[in-house]
Amino acid sequence: AAASSGGLVAYADSGSDAAVEKPQLPQRKKVVVLGTGWGGTTFLRNLDTRLYDVQVISPRNYFAFTPLLPSVTSGTVEPRSIVEPIRRILEKQKGGEIKFWEAECFKIDPQNKRIHCRSDLGTNLEGNGEFLVDYDYLVVAVGARTNTFNTPGVVENCHFLKEVEDAQKIRRSVMDCFEKASLPFLDEEERKKNLHFVVVGGGPTGVEFAASLHDFVTEDLAKLYPSIQHLVKISLIEAADHILTMFDKRITHFAEDKFGRDGIDVKTGYKVVKVAKDAITMQNPATGDISVPYGMAVWSTGIGTRPFIVEFMKQIGQGNRRVLATDEWLRVLECDGVYAVGDCATINQRRVMEDISEIFKVADKDKSGTLTVKEIQDVLDDIYVRYPQVQLYLKSKQMNGIADLVRSAKGDAEKESVELNIEEFKKALSLVDSQVKFLPATAQVASQQGQYLARCFNKMKDAEEHPEGPIRIRGEGRHRFRPFRYRHLGQFAPLGGEQTAAQLPGDWISIGHSSQWLWYSVYATKQISWRTRMLVVSDWTRRFIFGRDSSC
Ligand code: FAD
Ligand code: MG
Ligand code: MG
Ligand code: MG
Ligand code: MG
Repeated sequence: AAASSGGLVAYADSGSDAAVEKPQLPQRKKVVVLGTGWGGTTFLRNLDTRLYDVQVISPRNYFAFTPLLPSVTSGTVEPRSIVEPIRRILEKQKGGEIKFWEAECFKIDPQNKRIHCRSDLGTNLEGNGEFLVDYDYLVVAVGARTNTFNTPGVVENCHFLKEVEDAQKIRRSVMDCFEKASLPFLDEEERKKNLHFVVVGGGPTGVEFAASLHDFVTEDLAKLYPSIQHLVKISLIEAADHILTMFDKRITHFAEDKFGRDGIDVKTGYKVVKVAKDAITMQNPATGDISVPYGMAVWSTGIGTRPFIVEFMKQIGQGNRRVLATDEWLRVLECDGVYAVGDCATINQRRVMEDISEIFKVADKDKSGTLTVKEIQDVLDDIYVRYPQVQLYLKSKQMNGIADLVRSAKGDAEKESVELNIEEFKKALSLVDSQVKFLPATAQVASQQGQYLARCFNKMKDAEEHPEGPIRIRGEGRHRFRPFRYRHLGQFAPLGGEQTAAQLPGDWISIGHSSQWLWYSVYATKQISWRTRMLVVSDWTRRFIFGRDSSC
């Protein structure tokens, strides 16, 4: 059922002709998912697809296990081992058939509840590969793009490390640099230049890449290129004062020391301002501009919003924000039926101070104009659900409960008789919003959000039949679902030489070979299928026995 509208081919889904043969099913709502990365795939794997008519749109017809991308750059793991075709993932879903279109969404039209898509595969067809898709619910999980901060020459001269193709290109480029530096007609300076590898950005990705490149060079390539191996240099450039700033200080220091011992040149406090074809220019307040020749550069300095999402944000009145904002239920603010998960969005945590008068009114059951500790206690669970920062604040101040907070607001008044008026209540809670946390752009966050959202979708019908759902949230009436809550399970920073730093919940730090084994087992477990798990483990085994492959 395809109809033409304004030059575009409108795709009218599950048309009337199909309904004739099928038993009389109630009309299912259309869910359209953009993206097959961590957020989109986890959403789909947890969605009860019998309840919806699901269409998936992504320019990539596979899911990629991004945490192993740095291992692909050194050939420790093969590209095939970390990707799973999306059609294979969807095929395993019980229930309704899911449709997949290999295309890119380039415009969201929230007024008409439809999106504009374009497929590279259809550019020679009618409509130039463009088509429209209607939705009732849109799940935006398109991830982010690499941020160059508009630094000149980066796009032209640097590698990024975001996609599987990027990792493959980097690997080829490393090998080319070695082969080039081996050619007979080069002088020493030119050999050195070709063997200077620059990594820009001291975050987890940049650090892991630098470490895996160092392993590749020292463990494998040094044997194959003995006459030039002493000319190899790896530089890691970071604008801040330290690398891995999102980790505990102990990890940062260990990483900096280890890299120092390994001969990786860590340049902190340097900002790259220009990348030319064969020299990279960086700035430091003390030294001014310096230019260094390089053979290959990898740019890994944070993420930015995709242009079509920027356009969408302007349309819905989010033009002044940097990242697409959702509420705590992952609903895009001011936009009916649109949800967003993962790196493309951020949760706009509601502030206590915005609702303080409302909270006061609800809590003041006896309408006395003051709140007793008991009155506050009675609504506290609801407050914790709606405003998790309150709990975090009490914990950070080592307060045992709300009574402590009340007492501290009152000065040191006696326990039983304390009551707070609105001004005192405001004062007591005035600092809690400082504990609002922004979630990091990680696979862990994206997949937990995808899973949460799928569960909400699975219960949506039930919730519509029982609108007075189980969760009451004071100051806001009743809500059908609990807000999304992130559970941090810890984070790894592989540092090379079979050593990994791990920061687990409760600030449990472990660094060294044992954490490397933990890393292997966690990433083997987290594989999306038994097929990729087998492949990854056999890649690791092969590497242990034979070393990394250096043919390209
Ligand atoms: P993505 O996984 O990036 O998926 C976005 C999807 O949207 C892709 O399928 C893309 O093709 C598709 N898409 C793009 N544009 C469009 C469009 N216009 N229309 C439709 N679809 C579109 N996180 C961790 O927690 N642990 C790690 O160890 C870790 N290591 C990493 C290593 C590297 C090298 C990188 C790059 C990232 C790493 N991350 C890690 C971060 C993690 O990969 C991201 O946070 C995660 O991928 C975010 O998921 P997402 O679904 O938001 O986006
Ligand atoms: Mg995704
Ligand atoms: Mg991904
Ligand atoms: Mg996010
Ligand atoms: Mg009262």
